[in-house]
Amino acid sequence: MSGSSPSSARALPRDIAELKALAELQPELASAAQLQISLIETVRRVQGRLTTPWIDATTEELTARLAKGQSLLSFDQILFEWNDVRLLIRQIADILRRHDAIDADGVIALHNVGRAADLPERMHAWFDGIPSPDVEMLDEVLVWAARPYVQRTAEVLQQRVNFDGWGRRTCPVCAAEPDFSVITPAAERQLVCSRCLVRWAFAATDCPYCGNHDRSTITSMATPDGVYRVMICQPCGRYIKALDARKSARPLLPYADPIVTLPLDAAVMKRQGK
Ligand SMILES: [Zn+2]
Ligand SMILES: [Zn+2]
Repeated sequence: MSGSSPSSARALPRDIAELKALAELQPELASAAQLQISLIETVRRVQGRLTTPWIDATTEELTARLAKGQSLLSFDQILFEWNDVRLLIRQIADILRRHDAIDADGVIALHNVGRAADLPERMHAWFDGIPSPDVEMLDEVLVWAARPYVQRTAEVLQQRVNFDGWGRRTCPVCAAEPDFSVITPAAERQLVCSRCLVRWAFAATDCPYCGNHDRSTITSMATPDGVYRVMICQPCGRYIKALDARKSARPLLPYADPIVTLPLDAAVMKRQGK
């Protein structure tokens, strides 16, 4: 929620250990786990040599922005090292190809984006939430390639302000949607940003995608041990998974838990007849 959250950069070795254990225990998830491990290891190499961004705003200014409903981070505050970003895009594309997630043409298209002079403009558009449907999996690749930089800046901001009063559907730092959540021991819900992994409190039963708060149109399912849940919103058709910290022996692992819970995604798809 605020500055006390553990850095997800530091949690990475635990994510990798969890994914390795998952691949052993559940062979049907092994290829997804291996892919995720490869992506994490690629990003980690860059995280080791990041500089700390300087945020030219006072805590009062940042708090005032949040109070007006404005997210904190603007694109030009992110200290991208473009040569490293280009390298990351190439490596991530190669990993996706090795795991058969894209075809040979797809990897060439991604390499071309990584080399192109307009990469910063592409990244800026992605940051502003404009999808790039012309290149297969580019949006997913940019999430991974940008994450070390966005996350580093988010960590700095997170140490300066708290997000307690935010309560909105998008990230208080980078304005992206959540793609996971945590139910705290106090039965409150925190959303986890899909891009910078910042967490913020959000109404426990509302849909974080469309704002629907009619409980009769929101379905919930849980794993048999109750550690993971999923909430499905009928009006918008979207869903969000959660780690229930009241039932879990460990905290959320933001890189591992989305893979650990792939069977829940499959259960939702089946339910929705997809
Ligand atoms: Zn974010
Ligand atoms: Zn919804």
